[in-house]
Amino acid sequence: MATITYLVKLKKPSKRKHKAWLREQKTFVHCLNDCVTRLLNGEKLTSKNVPFPLKSTIKNEAIRRAKKAVSDYKMEVAKSIPVFKANTPISINNQNWDTQFKKGRWYLGFTTSMGKKYLPVLETDWVNTYFPYLTKLNRNFRGTIQLLRRRRNWYVAIPIEISCDIGQSSQNKETQRTPIGIDLGLRHIAVITELEPGKRQWFSGKEVGYIRRHFRSLRRSLGKKKAQRAIEQIGNKERRWITDYNRKLAHDLITFCLQFNQPMIQIEQLENIRNTCKTTKQADRTIHSWPFYQLKMFIKQKAAKHNIPVTDIDPYKTSQTCFHCGYEDKRNRYKSKFHCKQCGYVCHADLNAAKNIARSARSTSLAV
Ligand SMILES: [Zn+2]
Repeated sequence: MATITYLVKLKKPSKRKHKAWLREQKTFVHCLNDCVTRLLNGEKLTSKNVPFPLKSTIKNEAIRRAKKAVSDYKMEVAKSIPVFKANTPISINNQNWDTQFKKGRWYLGFTTSMGKKYLPVLETDWVNTYFPYLTKLNRNFRGTIQLLRRRRNWYVAIPIEISCDIGQSSQNKETQRTPIGIDLGLRHIAVITELEPGKRQWFSGKEVGYIRRHFRSLRRSLGKKKAQRAIEQIGNKERRWITDYNRKLAHDLITFCLQFNQPMIQIEQLENIRNTCKTTKQADRTIHSWPFYQLKMFIKQKAAKHNIPVTDIDPYKTSQTCFHCGYEDKRNRYKSKFHCKQCGYVCHADLNAAKNIARSARSTSLAV
């Protein structure tokens, strides 16, 4: 699946509406920047304690975006403290917009502080093709839209996830995408593989494991002396080392992808570390830790530069399922060895998982 964002132009609004949206945008940006400051101070935010005259769903979008910006900053994906500019688009989530066909033409309706209004849009082929999928009844197909302005014109950016099948049917066979799976893990930081015929590359976790153990034991030896400052400095040094390493690794992974015709990356979903692990110590040793999260963000950023779509794959049982026959059993895998109990297929466990991830793309349908 690939997400394609389409810009729909709204028919020129009245002066009153134009001014009202400008006000709304100004308030939204103030709200965003205020949320960032408060999050950096460690405050917990809900739509109730954010005092801006906006709909609570729009406040929630502001909180979500501010959280993302702050976490990118903390994970060192972004280099500086985020500041949202005056022309930042307003986010409106899927429950607060839809399309409607009235009197022979398409309208887009969305909710702001002025209430819900349906507005005529400039009709294009795209509008005629996709607007029927975005009406009130088709809630599953709608994502979060952005209301944005270029001078006096207003647009709405609508994201649509398109399955490979739909994407491919409009292109000829020679430009079919090459699915590439990336499996992340501790033994191998990353295993990347093409589905067929199966060029692959391994990235060992030894170096990272060694460095992290080294820093951990350094910290431990200092811990007894309560040298808090020294520990913090080691922490910073370790973070910088990992950040550099991840940036380089993401570069190597994308270079691998670029040897193929129209690559598309499938990578396993990582859960938010805060939700899965209680302590940072525990989180440090799992693949849901910040180094993996950061690596994935770098991969996405670099992929975007080369127009390579990246899809999250539910990693559920990819490591226990046989790539050859599809048989799924915990006992298929023993440490780094994969041996299918049903068909006898033998493979490195991490490669088997990466291949399953690469194949996951094949059967999806239009969904937002
Ligand atoms: Zn099998």
